[in-house]
Amino acid sequence: MSLESEFTNHFGAPPERVVRAPGRVNLIGEHTDYNGGFVLPMAIDREARIAARRRPDRRVRMVALDFGGAVSEFSLDAIEHVAEQTWSNYVRGVALFLQERGANLSGLDLVIQSNVPIGSGLSSSAALEVCAATTFQAFGGFSISQVETAQLCQKVENEFLGVQTGIMDQFISALAKAGHALLIDCRDLSYQHVPMPQGATVVVCDTTKRRGLVTSKYNTRRAECEEAARLMGVALLRDVSPTDLGRFETDMPPTVAKRARHVVAENARVLEAVAAMKQNNLPTFGTLMNQSHESLRNDYEVSCPELDTMVEIARQQPGCLGARLTGAGFGGCTVNLVADEHVAAFVANVAREYEARTGIRPPVYVCRPSAGASVAW
Ligand code: ADP
Ligand code: MG
Repeated sequence: MSLESEFTNHFGAPPERVVRAPGRVNLIGEHTDYNGGFVLPMAIDREARIAARRRPDRRVRMVALDFGGAVSEFSLDAIEHVAEQTWSNYVRGVALFLQERGANLSGLDLVIQSNVPIGSGLSSSAALEVCAATTFQAFGGFSISQVETAQLCQKVENEFLGVQTGIMDQFISALAKAGHALLIDCRDLSYQHVPMPQGATVVVCDTTKRRGLVTSKYNTRRAECEEAARLMGVALLRDVSPTDLGRFETDMPPTVAKRARHVVAENARVLEAVAAMKQNNLPTFGTLMNQSHESLRNDYEVSCPELDTMVEIARQQPGCLGARLTGAGFGGCTVNLVADEHVAAFVANVAREYEARTGIRPPVYVCRPSAGASVAW
């Protein structure tokens, strides 16, 4: 049944609006965000959608179709974090922080549905947050820029949900342009839409390995980066060039030096990748992706056997220009750049070979560069 008819079924009248916001994949620039560096995500053609209708009162009633039609309800005058129906906290947090910055929200009936796979690393959470913020905005009572929307949604994730993430996911979901990736400077949030090269397709392969308890490892990496920056006398590793690093490297503890080497080189690779994209230089773009994976595996040490296996299988396929882990690592997905004419065979072969080696049939997503959040109608 369509989202619209589900809405009518639940609430007895059709929705007034349908709003959408996409998930994302990061093409290159991993673990650079908290070092004030560059990232290059692309919005994918999988999105959260919310059908909505204004209510005459101050209540928000929600139905989550992907959670078996679970319902949750709150008052805009007393927004609380809840322990059951935790999915509802994403909408609650958005409403709370919008009101905190002065928005005059309207009560709404909402039905939520998404085809961004949940918990796979394609950021179903950011898609939901940005979709919720855009939905409230569609019913008026305030104006907010897309950059502010992204910042507010990041705050929801960090402070209302208690999940530490950078700004990338919300930023790309709010600001993406169809056919483009987005270069984001995480230090000052300046950005540039970069046309996706012609002739190749982005394919995401899910190892199905879930990250589990990696918060401590993530925090260790962050601390090591701070240590490297301190030893080099800069605020952020982003301020170090590969040449600068060469001068300092030998004086640093070996592990700290390795972490810094990844961040500094990865940051430079993002800009090289952007230059390659602008020239439609697919081989160079692919090579940079491959180098990114090697650096994440050897210097940053955030890969795992499943990710390495998926990358190895991908690179054996005809037409594979580049393959790397995407996201924080320790599990999750790989991102691959595949020549258009080889995509169908790539998808079939990688899935078959990964299953043969691991016994697990991996979900594989062929992704089109999509537009950021919008009111569909
Ligand atoms: P991801 O990597 O997909 O962002 P997260 O753990 O950060 O994984 O976010 C997943 C959570 O976001 C879900 O457990 C749920 O609470 C919420 N969420 C995502 N998609 C939906 C959806 N379609 N309906 C309701 N809640 C959703
Ligand atoms: Mg998330």
